[in-house]
Amino acid sequence: MAKGKRTSALRKTSAKAGTRPGAALAALIDDLVIGNRILYDQNIVDGYGHISARDPRDQAHFLMSRARAPGLVTGADIMVFGLDGEPIKDDGRPVYSERFIHSEIYKARSDVHSVVHSHSPTVIPFSVTQVPLKPIRAPFFYPEVPVFEIRDAGGWTNLLVSDSALGAALAQTLGQNSVALLRGHGNVVVGPTVRVTVYRAIYTEANARLLLEAKMLGGPITYLAPEEAALMEANLAKPRPGHGHDRTWEMWKAEALARAGKGRR
Ligand SMILES: [Zn+2]
Repeated sequence: MAKGKRTSALRKTSAKAGTRPGAALAALIDDLVIGNRILYDQNIVDGYGHISARDPRDQAHFLMSRARAPGLVTGADIMVFGLDGEPIKDDGRPVYSERFIHSEIYKARSDVHSVVHSHSPTVIPFSVTQVPLKPIRAPFFYPEVPVFEIRDAGGWTNLLVSDSALGAALAQTLGQNSVALLRGHGNVVVGPTVRVTVYRAIYTEANARLLLEAKMLGGPITYLAPEEAALMEANLAKPRPGHGHDRTWEMWKAEALARAGKGRR
């Protein structure tokens, strides 16, 4: 029966899949909502910026909130989009103008299952100077962190990646890397899961801050070697409860929910 087949397909696409059909989807939507809240609580996004996840039911679809501040997103806000960047079911709700960042990256990269676009502040100076954003604590910066120059793709624009052509040009600049900077605007981070991508977005900002501070001390900087980065990535990729991404996700989630509950945000 089709129901059984669908369940096994969901199991394959998510480590969190349960025994019920739809359990993987429910878990993914939960992570997406928490991911929004964490990115806001960690000052990676403010009223702008967004996170999406590829739909486990259909690789040509992705899930993302309606146009709303990430700190306020709930499960009811999550909509399904196609790789043309348009909602599968247009119910009249407003959608993010930069949704084409997500659609074009999913189109270009079958390995990507989550995308974060933010304007996290310490990263932006590296997009407007000749100082490359190199890895100190972010092993996923290898092979490189390219800079997308929107003038090359669209001439004079308002800097927003607001159509498929601009999104495709950004996806081309990103290439096989995990992070790309958008000149004078922000950055895009991709990963295999929502949790890994949230971790990468937070550590992209943290690495930018560390690099800025290291440069203030002066003298040559010893960056993370590609060999060290590969070993760090392999270590983080091991599914070990209480270690790696699992530990940071649990902490960030608790902090975001506690602070939201106190009405700080
Ligand atoms: Zn933006």
